[in-house]
Amino acid sequence: MDTTWLEVTLETTAPELDALCARLTMNGAVGLVIEDEEDFKSFLEQNRQYWDYVDDGLLERMRGAARVKFYVTDDPDGQAQLRRWLAGVEAPYTTSRLRENDWATSWQKYYKPLAVGKRLYIVPEWERGEPAPEGRTALYLNPGLTFGTGSHASTRLCLEWLEEFVRPGGRVLDLGCGSGILSVAALLLGAETALGVDIDPKAVDVAYENAALNGLGRDRCTFLAGDILTGGSLGAELAREPWDLVLANIVADVIIPLSARAEELLAPGGAFLCSGIIDTRAREVETALEGNGLRILSRKERDGWVALAARPEGRANP
Ligand code: SAH
Repeated sequence: MDTTWLEVTLETTAPELDALCARLTMNGAVGLVIEDEEDFKSFLEQNRQYWDYVDDGLLERMRGAARVKFYVTDDPDGQAQLRRWLAGVEAPYTTSRLRENDWATSWQKYYKPLAVGKRLYIVPEWERGEPAPEGRTALYLNPGLTFGTGSHASTRLCLEWLEEFVRPGGRVLDLGCGSGILSVAALLLGAETALGVDIDPKAVDVAYENAALNGLGRDRCTFLAGDILTGGSLGAELAREPWDLVLANIVADVIIPLSARAEELLAPGGAFLCSGIIDTRAREVETALEGNGLRILSRKERDGWVALAARPEGRANP
């Protein structure tokens, strides 16, 4: 028999949205789908783990409403989960029953194999049988509950640049590694080693698993938990040997202070690729990069998200 699911929809207002999501998250809720028009972009910037559930038509469908949706199975376990997740939540909610097929077309469609750039083909782990199109390398991925399925514009912009910037045998630093997707892609595209760091400790296991799904072991990649903006032993570890490529698909508020360290982290000829910058903050990030002695090599923009490639001023193009 097909599993049936309950789609739970909580109606709220834009000002209440953050508090509601925080409450649900504290109650253990996962897979929240946020639908809010006004505050949508800035909310996403602060809650990037939800991005992957967002598709392009969403903004049009929202029309002023602020809603949070999530899914539980329609059985006693799901009902118990629903009670736990809604503890202390006052917002009104409705439920509707979805059949497995509706469920698959509602959110799993975001996890279909995805051709990115010219060379990559991102394949969800559960669709491993899917052959990669001619000329593309399959990257197998199970994002779990971390950010980074490859479907978000900011990740795609980075993946496309990796094809251009990864040097055979190079060393790559992936700041805010999430699922590890960028580290894995860089290694599949020819880098020798990658170090990924994320403030979310869940990311470490998920990233190692994703590396293993692609036949990459701990000899090629290391993932660490920690805040890249605090110094200490993590800061020292990052700067121990310079990197050919430093990736930071994070938010403007992290990239701006990080740009002060970019030069120190980069090997001669190395490049700093940053993404996840909401378009309204791009100018501020550019100013920070330039103020820290970096020259902007390239700027890309998609769906309101900006990515910047930069290199220390005066260093030659390799
Ligand atoms: N690299 C992945 C994930 C990007 S999402 C991709 O390109 O798809 C950004 C990630 O940065 C999140 O996983 C978040 O937990 C992490 N992050 C945010 N601030 C951070 C900080 N100060 N230090 C380390 N990681 C951080």
